[in-house]
Amino acid sequence: MKRELAEAAKDLAAYIRALDENLAEPPRGAAAANKPPAPLAAPPLPAAPTSSPAPRRDAHDMDSLAEEVKNCRKCGLGHARLNAVFGVGTYKAKVVFVGEGPGFQEDHQGEPFVGRSGQLLDKILETVLGLKRSDVYIANIVKCHPMKNPENPEAHGNDRPPTTEEMSACRPYLEEQLRFIKPACIVTLGSVPTKVLLNIDKGISTVRGHWYDYPVELFGPGHPIKVLPTYHPAALLRNPNLKRDTWEDMKMLKSFLETGKIS
Ligand code: SF4
Ligand code: URA
Repeated sequence: MKRELAEAAKDLAAYIRALDENLAEPPRGAAAANKPPAPLAAPPLPAAPTSSPAPRRDAHDMDSLAEEVKNCRKCGLGHARLNAVFGVGTYKAKVVFVGEGPGFQEDHQGEPFVGRSGQLLDKILETVLGLKRSDVYIANIVKCHPMKNPENPEAHGNDRPPTTEEMSACRPYLEEQLRFIKPACIVTLGSVPTKVLLNIDKGISTVRGHWYDYPVELFGPGHPIKVLPTYHPAALLRNPNLKRDTWEDMKMLKSFLETGKIS
């Protein structure tokens, strides 16, 4: 018992040290550029998807889905984006992390979670789970950058949450990614993907740290995907006190990935 406690304390200390070392302060003058997105207003819940693209069977089909997304104009976000942000990682992932939507950096680089939030996500993956982003899959509810001023994708501080319509339009792509990857679980990052994917209207601090079943049985009856909501990394950047709960959530994830069981 004593040894377990000492190990847990050591783990926690190393984790917090790593987070703090890597995410101390942004460089001077970069504060505005790196400012995490403003707190998000809870959007109304979008309807669950009613239609999906035709089922994809192999990686080649996923590449063609990515190509489709690149040219997609199903909602207004498609007209202003610099790059569609399909997803990153391995199609063999046991866990898929789902964020809200691309921000400035993601729009510029075409990859999810590459800004400050993404650096923190990488650090959490590495420190708590011993995983790299190439060992998991990372995607967003919407694939294009929601901007307050769509005329100016070069502006910083131009992020906004996606609307209900935008999320409903884009949702089939995520469903298709999930259907293809067949992960054992999904981690929703923050309240927007949590509300949308679980079809609930509760705050993230209430629902985090518990396992849920994904409401759509993508792999047929009796094979639910487990969903674990946790804080969005941007929330941890704003409020470092939330790191401790996130660490707990990631320990739950680790245990599930290792044992296949919910503890
Ligand atoms: Fe298409 Fe999704 Fe981009 Fe809208 S956000 S244009 S639905 S890819
Ligand atoms: N925040 C998100 O929700 N997704 C990203 O890809 C980056 C920041």
